[in-house]
Amino acid sequence: MHEYAVVDELIGALLPRLAEHPGRVRTVVVRKGELRILSDHALVNAFEILTKGTRLEGADLLVEAVAAAVSCSACGYRGPAGRFGGEGDHFSIPVLTCPQCGASVQVDAGRELYVDYVTLSDDSPVDG
Ligand SMILES: [Zn+2]
Repeated sequence: MHEYAVVDELIGALLPRLAEHPGRVRTVVVRKGELRILSDHALVNAFEILTKGTRLEGADLLVEAVAAAVSCSACGYRGPAGRFGGEGDHFSIPVLTCPQCGASVQVDAGRELYVDYVTLSDDSPVDG
C-alpha cells in the first residue's frame, strides 16, 4: 500500500529530529493535502505498525486535512480549487481547473504531506 511508503518516509525523517528532545512522544500531527489520495485510516494503521520498536511506538498519529488552493495564470484567480459536487456535498472532490474562467491552474496547496508538530510528555520515563 502506498500509505506504508509515505509513513515510512515520514518516520525516517522524524526520528533523527527527535534525537535531541527527550521524553515520550505522545502525538504526531501531520498535515495532508486533500489532493493526496491517501486514506487517513491506512496512514494511522501504517504508523502503528511501522513505529513498533522505535521511539514513536504507542504515539498517536493525527491527520489534519489541508484544503486545495490554486492560482490561475489566465485570469489571476487565487483561492480554493473548484469542486465536483454541490455546495456542502460531503463527497465533493477538488478539480484542477479555475473556478472563475475554467483554465487549468497551478496548485498552491493541497499536495503536501508533512509532520506539523509532535507533542512530548517529559514526565514519562523514556524507555530504553
Ligand atoms: Zn482563471
